[in-house]
Amino acid sequence: MVTLSNEYLKDIITEYTPYTTQGEVVQSLPCVSELNQNDIGIAVIDLDQNIYTAGTTDLSFSLQSASKVVSLMIALEDLGEEKVFQTVGMEPMGDFFNTISHLEADDVHRPFNPMVNAGAIAICSLIKGSSVEERFERIMTMLKSVLGHDDIHMNEDVYKAERRKGDRNRALAYYMSSTGSVALDPEEALDLYFRINSIQFQVRDLALLGLFFANGGKTIEGGEQLLHPDHLTTIEAIMMTSGMYNESGRFAVNVGFPCKSGISGGIFGAVPGRYGIGVIGPAINPKGNSVAGSKILERLSKDLGLNIFHPEAKE
Ligand code: GLU
Repeated sequence: MVTLSNEYLKDIITEYTPYTTQGEVVQSLPCVSELNQNDIGIAVIDLDQNIYTAGTTDLSFSLQSASKVVSLMIALEDLGEEKVFQTVGMEPMGDFFNTISHLEADDVHRPFNPMVNAGAIAICSLIKGSSVEERFERIMTMLKSVLGHDDIHMNEDVYKAERRKGDRNRALAYYMSSTGSVALDPEEALDLYFRINSIQFQVRDLALLGLFFANGGKTIEGGEQLLHPDHLTTIEAIMMTSGMYNESGRFAVNVGFPCKSGISGGIFGAVPGRYGIGVIGPAINPKGNSVAGSKILERLSKDLGLNIFHPEAKE
């Protein structure tokens, strides 16, 4: 069995950097399009807060779809499972993340799950607060407690670009409003959705987010239970079945722990009771996942015995 170290991660980065040429950096969103195709970075943090890193670790990127986990977390804490899953389903979709057809095909016109765009927009409509600003501040406050530091912010340029380029998301929100399947104010829900997509992270933050889940929904410093254990179970199961767009099945088999990706090329993973893992590799495949990042997670899972379904997975 391999021992985790900076040297080990450095060798992995060297070995997998060639995979960055197989993906493409998303060009439709300014700021994301400026990310470097060849960059690849990783951070792994264990429950004793030992941190191991390699590659491009100082890159700042927008959270994009990884934010869907955070909004789901707060909606569950605000309203509980019954209400949340009256609004969105919990089934994997098997189609692209921003598809609209499922809203038409499904009898009840509900989004399939909280990890697709329609579902995340619906979830944003549930979060409590008297204004979008207040709801966003609640999310940021929670996120800062989860990460254990204050050094995150919303990138105004990404936010403006999300708004400017957000017609597909507008279509999803207004369609849900038109059928009445989700009782939402489309503009307010979209505004919050665009804001959380635009939160700026570094790869270490992705690992810290994963670590929070790996630590049972408790903060690492102080051990405060911020997430009800039942909600943690629900979120991790949904990450496992829907967190990696329509490649979630492949991830469940080859990686075998809950992960969530975003189109900036970031992925965070939670290995229960063991590690929080963050990878960034802006070159993504057509399904939306970092090519090199995905390969690295597969490798780590094998080398370190992280697949929770494997009979020899460590405690
Ligand atoms: N912000 C983009 C959108 O809402 C991409 C989200 C993602 O990472 O999948 O469509």
